[in-house]
Amino acid sequence: MSSKEKNPLADPKRRAPETQLVHGGTERSQHGETSEALFLNSGYVYPNSTDAETRFQNKTPGHIYSRFSNPTVEMFQKRMALLEGAEAARGLATGMAAVTTALMSQVRAGDHVVAARALFGGCRFVVEDFLPRWGVASTLVDGRDPANFAAAMRPNTKAVFLETPTNPTLEIVDIAAVAEIAHAHGAKLVIDNVFATPINQSPLALGADLVVYSATKHIDGQGRVLGGAILGSQELIAGDIHTFIRQTGPSMSPFNAWVLLKGLETLPLRVRQQSESAARIAEALAGHTKVRKVFYPHHKSHPQYELAKRQMKSGSTLVAFEVEGGQEAAFKVADALAVIVISNNLGDAKSIIAHPTTTTHQRFSEDVRLDMGITPGLLRLSVGLEAADDLIADLLYGLDQI
Ligand SMILES: *Cc1c(COP(=O)(O)O)cnc(C)c1O
Repeated sequence: MSSKEKNPLADPKRRAPETQLVHGGTERSQHGETSEALFLNSGYVYPNSTDAETRFQNKTPGHIYSRFSNPTVEMFQKRMALLEGAEAARGLATGMAAVTTALMSQVRAGDHVVAARALFGGCRFVVEDFLPRWGVASTLVDGRDPANFAAAMRPNTKAVFLETPTNPTLEIVDIAAVAEIAHAHGAKLVIDNVFATPINQSPLALGADLVVYSATKHIDGQGRVLGGAILGSQELIAGDIHTFIRQTGPSMSPFNAWVLLKGLETLPLRVRQQSESAARIAEALAGHTKVRKVFYPHHKSHPQYELAKRQMKSGSTLVAFEVEGGQEAAFKVADALAVIVISNNLGDAKSIIAHPTTTTHQRFSEDVRLDMGITPGLLRLSVGLEAADDLIADLLYGLDQI
């Protein structure tokens, strides 16, 4: 074939995700820099007053103020949108800013929200405490059975919100089934895709309307900055979401966007390695006499193994496990580790262990915790980039101390 035709790879949408994550969204300045430029500025200068006027009228393109647009943040947004296969994206200051913006922009007093009960602590607080304060009723359901969502829907339900796999017990929610239920009732489905990462799961392709991320986790992946993202259709993002960000200000810092752009370049490599190690660790822990139960979506023992295989490319970078002997034993294991550090973050290059009962889920009553499967012996492990053999040896040493 002659090479007279246009190179198909000139179209960013024709490129594989790994390629998009290295080049996607890049806009070089007049200096032709290799790495993305950091535009650490709050405002913009107009050539004349008429130009300022028409930019404010949305008649000429161009930035106005970094609360609602900035070139470095825009590069991050474009790269995220290409990865997710979304029409549009917005960067936010934190994952919680993304969740709060996604939900608040869709509701008003008198509306109703349905959410899965197993949620990240802050997300559950927004749904359970803040929304009702502002006149938006909310219902929490066991997300493992889609029928529970159907039963909770009301005529005024405007949004359905869930994360899958859930924190910390890695339960799976059937995104496609819940999307159908939400849409049958005219509600938007919002998915917190942090635990799966955009590499392992694509909620928009399964019918979700909005996907939210804490970019603090795998997208940075090296414990440096906070960030968040919301992705969806151009209509939703340029409409409700953009207006909410522009007028209330949960905006992403250009510096953080720049760090996160670098994080995106290595995201697939890191997530694949971490998922592979996590699967090996789950297998090593599953047969151990001191381990009562292992929670890993792609382990045969997972009650939703089939669904997890269908919905996720890998079993996630997290493993949870319950040790024999409750909290005392769990503390012994964590305190004996030499490589894995004790922290509540996740998705990091460093492997991290957390005891949800006494940290992330401390504020809940014991009944609520047990209802979410959070027992005193439960430990949540975020698998990092260390050698899997070292991580397994570290954990086996810890378990020997019980
Ligand atoms: C961390 C996290 C959040 C909140 O993100 P921040 O960047 O810490 O604000 C929301 N959802 C999930 C599942 C998370 O793990």
